Amino acid sequence: MNETEKLLEGNKNFVNGTPKAENKCLKTLQRLANGQNPRAIILTCSDSRVVPEIIFDAGIGELFVIRTAGATIGENVIESIEFAYDEMKIPLLVILGHDNCGVVTYAANHPDGSEHFHDIISQVHKILDCETLCYNELAKKHTLNITEIIKKNSKILKQAIDENKLEVISAHFHFDTGLVTILNNK
Ligand SMILES: [Zn+2]
Repeated sequence: MNETEKLLEGNKNFVNGTPKAENKCLKTLQRLANGQNPRAIILTCSDSRVVPEIIFDAGIGELFVIRTAGATIGENVIESIEFAYDEMKIPLLVILGHDNCGVVTYAANHPDGSEHFHDIISQVHKILDCETLCYNELAKKHTLNITEIIKKNSKILKQAIDENKLEVISAHFHFDTGLVTILNNK
């Protein structure tokens, strides 16, 4: 089972109400006190309903998680991903969007901008169009766009992808079912 399959298997446990993650205790933390070896980097939204360790049924030390409002990016976010890959050789990066994302909805409702939140909503504005009226579909487009920007703007990650050392996937978290599905990157 590769790392992506393992994550989706963990998500199945969450959906089925049969979580199996054991590494949630102080003993795990003490065992890892001198070093971590996470199996995936997750960039996702700060939304309180999107908690990677819970929805992927993972414990302490398994996921290197970066969360920002709307899973938006900036230099520090890209460097955080690069740091995770370069320092820990984590083989999988997941960019995870979700249903009913507040940032996506806010950006769609303020197409001409707003007094606040310029940086995060402008990232959603780049994929706004008149045809995509459903917020959840917009969220998926946004996730795919963020994935492309990360791949394009990071020399370290680009090289890792070219050398097949890093897999990058876009995914979407559905609130009605709890399922995480993989989005197709073009
Ligand atoms: Zn969100």
